[in-house]
Amino acid sequence: MKEIKIAKERIKKLFDLAEQEAKKENWKRSRRYVELARKIAMKFNISISKYKRKFCKKCNTFFTSKTLRVRIQKKDKRVTYTCLVCGNVQRYPYVREKLKTKKLKKGKN
Ligand SMILES: [Zn+2]
Repeated sequence: MKEIKIAKERIKKLFDLAEQEAKKENWKRSRRYVELARKIAMKFNISISKYKRKFCKKCNTFFTSKTLRVRIQKKDKRVTYTCLVCGNVQRYPYVREKLKTKKLKKGKN
């Protein structure tokens, strides 16, 4: 149990570092951090779903405004995340997102 807690903390730290390095455009280092975080997650069977939209699954690039293009496709109600480094496209259904926004708006009122 303790091991998992440490692993989770390490994953969080690695994604933080990956983000910092991405902002500095140290892509190589940033990618290495993402890779390590994913390896730890796999080893301990930890879900990294909250980070899954932050990096490219194919080349481990951490997404910033320079490495990611987000497009909404109204036709199939999907959001596409295109990695500008390797061109990999990840698609996510958009319904959930819409619900989230609704909830947020509700919360404000
Ligand atoms: Zn990529």
